[in-house]
Amino acid sequence: MNVRGKLFGAMAVLVLFVTVGYYGATQGYLKNRFEDYFKEKTSKRFEMYYQKHNNSWEGIEEMTLSDELEQQNPKREIALLSPDGNILFFRGTGDPQALIQKGKQNSVTVNGTTVGTIYVDRWESAEDHLLKMYILDSMRTSSFRVPVLCGIVALLLGLWLIKKLTQPLNRLILAIQKIAVGELHIHIPVTTRDEFGKVTEALNHMSQQLLRAEEARKNLTADVAHELRTPLSIIQCHMEIIQDRGRDIPPETLLPLQDEVIRLSKLVDDLHLLTLAEAGKLKLDRSPTELAPLLDRIIDMLKPEAEERHIDIIRSYPAQELNAFVDPNKITQVFYNLLINAIRYTSSGGRISIGITESSQNESRFASVSIADTGVGIAAEQLPFLFNRLYRVEESRSRHTGGMGLGLAIAKEFVEAHQGFISVQSEVGSGTQFTVYLPRA
Ligand code: ATP
Ligand code: MG
Repeated sequence: MNVRGKLFGAMAVLVLFVTVGYYGATQGYLKNRFEDYFKEKTSKRFEMYYQKHNNSWEGIEEMTLSDELEQQNPKREIALLSPDGNILFFRGTGDPQALIQKGKQNSVTVNGTTVGTIYVDRWESAEDHLLKMYILDSMRTSSFRVPVLCGIVALLLGLWLIKKLTQPLNRLILAIQKIAVGELHIHIPVTTRDEFGKVTEALNHMSQQLLRAEEARKNLTADVAHELRTPLSIIQCHMEIIQDRGRDIPPETLLPLQDEVIRLSKLVDDLHLLTLAEAGKLKLDRSPTELAPLLDRIIDMLKPEAEERHIDIIRSYPAQELNAFVDPNKITQVFYNLLINAIRYTSSGGRISIGITESSQNESRFASVSIADTGVGIAAEQLPFLFNRLYRVEESRSRHTGGMGLGLAIAKEFVEAHQGFISVQSEVGSGTQFTVYLPRA
């Protein structure tokens, strides 16, 4: 059964319950009220008789008690007992004692004193009974008709409302079915501000995210294929030359091949690391790590390259040691990637400044490391894409200076895995500064 059917069923059951409940309640209530009224009426009659006869029951046995109808066809039995248990009045065909034992009773009270007790088989007289039946009958019809009519109107209104309510749901189902078969270019108009509107917005957002992820996947595949093609064709070319010559292979012929194999291995390793980090599966072995010696080790590693290009590396470390709560291996990779970029994209005779400071952002304390170079700089329009995987600024696409475009993506993912963040400032022709913020130990 669909939602529409279920909602309609629920409404129909509700209407049925209300109708039956209302009918039962009004009938029961009215019957009780009548019972009270007739009891009061019969008792009052005896009270009035007592008061009229100077507070005595004199001649009570002659009292005409009820309406004409009852007098002609007396059906109910009534007995009056004095406080000391004598039968003062009895009207009926049966045994007064049986009535006293089984009948309904009520005291007759005058000025706060009980002057007798009435026993009846029922409180209503024949005329009262007719009146009661007449009123109950007409109430029965109206208390049945009105809720049934209201119920029908409510059901019709409900049907219209259910249709209106489930219309957006149908649109959503259609859209989800489209997404399921890969049609991600969908946008469902948001027509309401209610939960359906919110679900629609979430679905639109989700389809956009999926579309972006799908495009990123396609781009990644294309980029990786592109990156693999060049070294592979170089290797293939060299192999063919070697085969054509049919002689022993001199070591210098193998060198470019080895270069390309190293390049390929690095690409595969970097992609593996990046995929792990992006999937949140990077294993971190965090400990309080002093940043200055860690940076010194990386600088020592890269010194030969910097010296070869006549690039000065200037350090400004704080007097006191500054610790960050990080995985030293992963953070070494981050600074290595940033520093190798700084060396690679700074022309000969340039300068790289490395600084460590303390900083706090949104009540969190960070150790920040800045790496500033006097290199080529990056245009403002390139900055938003700088940390995307396989993104390279056009000029650096040369295979000599440029890499794969994974270094910054890895650095960003690693830093974020440590709940830190990374920022960049750059000016074309003046230089670039990357700042890495790491949580304090
Ligand atoms: P990989 O690091 O994978 O070997 P890559 O260095 O090209 O390759 P990233 O480190 O991600 O890739 O850098 C992306 C691009 O950002 C670089 O290609 C380069 O154009 C630019 N870039 C990065 N650092 C600097 C810098 N310090 N100065 C100028 N441009 C830079
Ligand atoms: Mg790099």
